Amino acid sequence: MKKILLFVIVTLLCLSCRQQKIIKVAHRGASGYLPEHTLEAVALAHSWDIDYIEPDLVMTKDDQLIVMHDPHLDTTTNVKDLFPNRARADGRFYAVDFSLDEIKKLSVHERVNLETGEAVFPGRFPHGRSHFEVPSFIEYIELVQGLNKSTGKKIGIIPEIKAPEFHESEGKDIVSKTLFVLKSYGYEENGQAIIQCFEPNTLKMIKNKTNIPLLQLIAVNEWKESSADYDKMLTDDGLKEIATYAKYIGPYLPQLYDIKNDRAFKNDVMKLAHKYDLKVAPYTIRDDAIFKPFENKKEMMSFVLGELEVDGLFSDFADKL
Ligand code: CA
Repeated sequence: MKKILLFVIVTLLCLSCRQQKIIKVAHRGASGYLPEHTLEAVALAHSWDIDYIEPDLVMTKDDQLIVMHDPHLDTTTNVKDLFPNRARADGRFYAVDFSLDEIKKLSVHERVNLETGEAVFPGRFPHGRSHFEVPSFIEYIELVQGLNKSTGKKIGIIPEIKAPEFHESEGKDIVSKTLFVLKSYGYEENGQAIIQCFEPNTLKMIKNKTNIPLLQLIAVNEWKESSADYDKMLTDDGLKEIATYAKYIGPYLPQLYDIKNDRAFKNDVMKLAHKYDLKVAPYTIRDDAIFKPFENKKEMMSFVLGELEVDGLFSDFADKL
């Protein structure tokens, strides 16, 4: 009887450990509530019970790292109003064409659809209210580390090196700069960072230069995120190869299940990833954009946590994970 009781207690403890171990990532900071990647969104996210805050990194004309999702400045700032003549032939405004001083003059707003000018997520922070700056990566790190000290928390960062192929074609070494900044701020030793990227060749190259664990992001081929073949990455051989350089994968959540008759069925990706000891942290949980075929967030989360049993999650509303 005692043995059975002990077994039940240990099992329950293990189950609760399993739940606690899910890595919670504040995707682009507290981006469900404040304009993405602003210091204000970092401060709010830091107040939550989470593990990592996510900065996306792009480079400026004067080789500084800024925290921004796109290589373009026009979907989240007022660059068109302040510098109307600085677009390239494709009509876009590129961060690599602006100095950090110039970028600091911009005001960040909620992401807009460039064709319609409308907010991508209409229920989020209103336009034209408050002033938000584009942070440099250094300012961002200093805020996170400062808050870690003053609160006693140990919240990490999970920087994503954006578009290394594009940066390289512009003569920008975004990889070396990122590694240099991370090393300067102690991330080689403190265990509080993970580096993510969509480009496998970049991660393979980084692997030999840092102790910081790596996360291979997996896109959908149609998005043309990079020259990599992401369908191949999701196969047994593809995941086996990823495990030679990365510790985590970050797939698009719908890549982990098939839909039949409006119901979701777990596919083999989770099982194959775990076979090679890869932890799986899909993106992106959004309370205001529920994935098909789920009717609501509760249904989606019960599938994601109960059936997929993911190891981590990226969410715009990480306070509600
Ligand atoms: Ca990202």
